[in-house]
Amino acid sequence: MRKTEKIHGLDDYQTVALKYDTYPSFRDGLMKYSKDGIMVATEKGLIEKVLGLSGEAGETVDKYKKILRDKDGIISPSDREELVKELGDVLWYVAMISEYLEVPLSDVAKRNIEKLESRYKRNKIHGAGDNR
Ligand SMILES: [Mg+2]
Repeated sequence: MRKTEKIHGLDDYQTVALKYDTYPSFRDGLMKYSKDGIMVATEKGLIEKVLGLSGEAGETVDKYKKILRDKDGIISPSDREELVKELGDVLWYVAMISEYLEVPLSDVAKRNIEKLESRYKRNKIHGAGDNR
C-alpha cells in the first residue's frame, strides 16, 4: 500500500494533488494559449476540472440532502466521514483549477480572506454580488 504523503500547507497540497491529474493535456504540455500567452478557457483539461468541481459540489449537496430527508438531519460519524471525503474532492478540483490558472492555492485562500475582511469592515458580509 502506498504511504500517504505528508501535507504541510495549501501549496504543498496543490503540488501533491497535481500528481493525480490524469488528464493528459496539462502534463503533456498541450495547454492552449492565446497569442499573448493567456490560457484559453476552452482548454479541455481546464473544462474537465471546472465540470468536476460542479460534480463534486453536487455530491456534497446530495449527501447533505439525504441526511436531511432520511435521517432527520442527524449527521452520524459515517455521514460526517462521507461529507469530509466530498469536501476533499471539491478541494482537489479547486486546487487543480488554481494550478491551471497558474495561481498558488495559498494565494486563492489569501485573496478570499482579504475579500471577506474587506466586506466585514464595510459591513457588507450580507447581501449579494461578487464585488460588493
Ligand atoms: Mg466525490
